[in-house]
Amino acid sequence: MTEKKVRFKIFRYKPGAIDPPRYDTFEVPVGPRTVVLDVLEDIRVDHDPSLMYRHSCHHASCGTCAYKINGQEGLGCVTNVMELGADEVVVEPLDALSRVVDLVVDMSEFYRDISPDWTYLRESEWYPESVTAPEIEHHVRFENCIECGACVSSCPVTAAGDFYMGPAALAAINRELSKSNGAESGNLLDLAGSERGVWQCHTAFECSAVCPSDVNPAGHIMELRRRLIMQKVKNLFGLK
Ligand code: SF4
Repeated sequence: MTEKKVRFKIFRYKPGAIDPPRYDTFEVPVGPRTVVLDVLEDIRVDHDPSLMYRHSCHHASCGTCAYKINGQEGLGCVTNVMELGADEVVVEPLDALSRVVDLVVDMSEFYRDISPDWTYLRESEWYPESVTAPEIEHHVRFENCIECGACVSSCPVTAAGDFYMGPAALAAINRELSKSNGAESGNLLDLAGSERGVWQCHTAFECSAVCPSDVNPAGHIMELRRRLIMQKVKNLFGLK
């Protein structure tokens, strides 16, 4: 693949200035390794320094550069432009979260149903046959979720209103459940089964399809439903 020019339509919105929103078009040369985030940076440097977007690590670890790219949620830092196979690429902010400016959305809404008390770290899981050096035995690893918001944006239920806590928060609840017990477990299950919880899910599985980090939030939601049904059966028969 050689270098070619691709037309980028970028969503623009600045409260009070570009309002209502519009799309600006830029012709940008791309090569075989160009990713969408490279293009946004080129546009900012060469065409319009006022373009606003979130990004940080450039290697799919931080989750900050999730946008809608030709209608599909994805990370700008790992979405190869040529592999999209399109002469025009439309870049838009995530859905279901309030727009702040251009491609930036309000991520505080993403965290609304995720308690700061829940842990994002868990003890490392070792292959049984592995030999572990004693000095790294107690290392912890980050959970898979990179908090990008792609699942929330893709979900048809979160798109309909803010009455559903969404796939990332429910996946976080299920992870918390796996390391809690007693009253804490009961509270987490109550939260999962609450009005904003798992029964709002329409099982579209879009969240798992777009997740760049293999969290499989839909799988967590289905597991929470199973846990809730089991709990109900136990309560019905007075079992512990
Ligand atoms: S569950 Fe996946 S898509 Fe959702 S926020 Fe976490 S990493 Fe992103």
